[in-house]
Amino acid sequence: MSFARTLVAPEPGWVTQADVIVVGSGVAGLTAALELRTKVDRVLVVTKGVLSSGSTVWAQGGIAAALDPEDTPEAHMADTLIAGGGLCSVPAVEVLVREGPERVGELMARGARFDHMEDGKISLGREGGHHADRIIHAGGDATGAEVSRALVAQLEAIRNDPGIEVIEHALVVDLLTSAPVDKGWPGPVCGVTLHVIGEGTRDGIGAATAKAVIVATGGIGQVYRSSTNPVSATGDGIAMALRAGAAVADLEFVQFHPTVLWLGSGMIGQLPLISEAVRGEGALLLNADGKRFMPDVHPMAELAPRDVVTHAIVDQIVATGVENVFLDARHLGAERIAHRFPTIQEALAEHGLDMAVDLIPVAPAQHFHSGGVFTDLYGRSTLKGLYAAGEAACTGVHGANRLASNSLLEGLVFASRAAKDVASRIVEGDLTEGEPVRRDGTQGLLPATDRGRIQKLAYEGVGPVRERDGLEAAWEELRDIRRPGRFAAANVTVTPQTAEWETTNVAQTAAGIIAAARIREESRGGHFRRDFPVTNDAVWKERLAVTFDEENHLRVNPVGIDFATS
Ligand SMILES: Cc1cc2nc3c(=O)[nH]c(=O)nc-3n(C[C@H](O)[C@H](O)[C@H](O)COP(=O)(O)OP(=O)(O)OC[C@H]3O[C@@H](n4cnc5c(N)ncnc54)[C@H](O)[C@@H]3O)c2cc1C
Repeated sequence: MSFARTLVAPEPGWVTQADVIVVGSGVAGLTAALELRTKVDRVLVVTKGVLSSGSTVWAQGGIAAALDPEDTPEAHMADTLIAGGGLCSVPAVEVLVREGPERVGELMARGARFDHMEDGKISLGREGGHHADRIIHAGGDATGAEVSRALVAQLEAIRNDPGIEVIEHALVVDLLTSAPVDKGWPGPVCGVTLHVIGEGTRDGIGAATAKAVIVATGGIGQVYRSSTNPVSATGDGIAMALRAGAAVADLEFVQFHPTVLWLGSGMIGQLPLISEAVRGEGALLLNADGKRFMPDVHPMAELAPRDVVTHAIVDQIVATGVENVFLDARHLGAERIAHRFPTIQEALAEHGLDMAVDLIPVAPAQHFHSGGVFTDLYGRSTLKGLYAAGEAACTGVHGANRLASNSLLEGLVFASRAAKDVASRIVEGDLTEGEPVRRDGTQGLLPATDRGRIQKLAYEGVGPVRERDGLEAAWEELRDIRRPGRFAAANVTVTPQTAEWETTNVAQTAAGIIAAARIREESRGGHFRRDFPVTNDAVWKERLAVTFDEENHLRVNPVGIDFATS
């Protein structure tokens, strides 16, 4: 399939300029912006919603860091590498665990307040896969909200500073690139085009030029029909980086959460997660016939590893023909439930459910993406001028599967490194402002009405359980969605606006995931193939990167073969 190299959009009606543009205002974007403000003259922060939009605010469990005197970065590293199924970048994990505690300290200095014990020591919890107590948390299960609150407050405090500009309700449509360095290949990234839902001179499509762009656009949840991610998680960072010519990696590794509230097949948007802690407290999983099934699957029954529970639920769904199973917590009693799970009870109440009274319908849903824009240890992508950080990036710390609570930490550590690297390269004159030129290749845009079909094919093709027939069917259906006349610019009858840009990003991200998953004929971490259920280190112990080639086709290569970071 041939892919669009830019999205159809009106010509920019206004222009602005900065040293660095940060796209996104989650933990990664805000950390980068605050760091950059002290180091370069002009920072532009662009975010699709308000400053607190994104996954960060929803994070429940906490942040992993070796803060206990009994714990060590080496032990944290060992747990991370095990979870990653042999595909983590060891140097990246080393950076994560060694610099993590210092970045967490900085976050506290920026005003984040974490839970403490009665003796005044920071409270450290434990989550699946960790062999030490190393999860800091805030407000019990409201860690992300506190991280976001503290970082947003810091940014608000400098909002009138002429060196920083924040544009909210602004969707970055595409990256701008300068003249090709090699024949037919895009040149360095030198800015963005963005659509602002604003007033006056900053309304509609504009262009912002800069010496570097840091993409911190978060995850891809909305590629799937059901996800715990907010509606802003449409894979924009991956899709715009691909279109600009950068490599993306580890796309096939998608983490699904086994117990997400099931609201029927017509459900859209973000779905409430029913945390593992509920099963930890004693809740049971029942199939549509009211029968408990996990004891037959794993010795740890309901507390088996996340992927085991997910696959068992999928098997029950296939066997019974009912699209969900049930979580039964009724025996825990109203008082205990209210005390332990106030946030979850509140979310359930919005849908007329009460864990003390009702069986809760649940099904697996997309939760986290290990893949993203391929970066080195400094957040540099394969394209000069383009950096990535947070969930949109692929630093390699997660490998094939994320260890619980490592993602907020990744955002803190690598966004800070990216910001410092950008700043020092600007000072050294290694990053300078380029002149945007029109990119070769087709323009494209999908109608927003295709989103549901793409989300369904993504779940069926590259959901929690994959196999060749489903992958090929998803690939074919995507080709059909993109058939000439619906996608090519000359025939586009679709009005370019937010829903259409996002839908096209969803389609391109889905295509990248499917392309990588078709090739990896084994099971590992967040990539489970029923037709190749075993991990095959002899053939597949390598990471895969996806790029657009000169003919605008998706190309999948082992990481490191065709490219290096800029
Ligand atoms: C329910 C839930 C619970 C979680 N629990 C934990 C946990 O306990 N511990 C943990 O470590 N991780 C957890 N995670 C994962 C973690 O929250 C995310 O990986 C992390 O917050 C990602 O941060 P980020 O800064 O990369 O992206 P986000 O916080 O998602 O921010 C992305 C930003 O980019 C903006 N954006 C996106 N596209 C565009 C565009 N085209 N133009 C302009 N702006 C754009 C968005 O508006 C947003 O501001 C959880 C995730 C969810 C959904």
